[in-house]
Amino acid sequence: MANINYCLRCGYEWLSRLERLPTVCPRCNSPYWNILKWKGVRKLNEYSCPVCQSEHSSFLNLARHMVMKDRPDGPHQEWLQDFLGLQFVEYAFGKDKAISIQLAKYWKKHGKWP
Ligand SMILES: [Zn+2]
Ligand SMILES: [Zn+2]
Repeated sequence: MANINYCLRCGYEWLSRLERLPTVCPRCNSPYWNILKWKGVRKLNEYSCPVCQSEHSSFLNLARHMVMKDRPDGPHQEWLQDFLGLQFVEYAFGKDKAISIQLAKYWKKHGKWP
């Protein structure tokens, strides 16, 4: 009997005929390819990017990442425009600190991203 395996890291699907679960994903070699099955959905930490889930060491670094990513328009900028209620030109330059304070405030209040 064949099993359909699905890698949660890279999205690869493959068939295996083994009794046991494969130890790594054949495409990305991740040993954590099925980690959600036994760990539950990974909770974003406070410095995780709400758009691409990348991890950052502070709210300021997260703010910088979001402002710099896919500018002048793309999913990060759309998220920021909704979040801040500002247009790109109003927050794109020299506002990293102000954005990080808003992110920190929001996170402390809600514990998750909108
Ligand atoms: Zn994979
Ligand atoms: Zn991101």
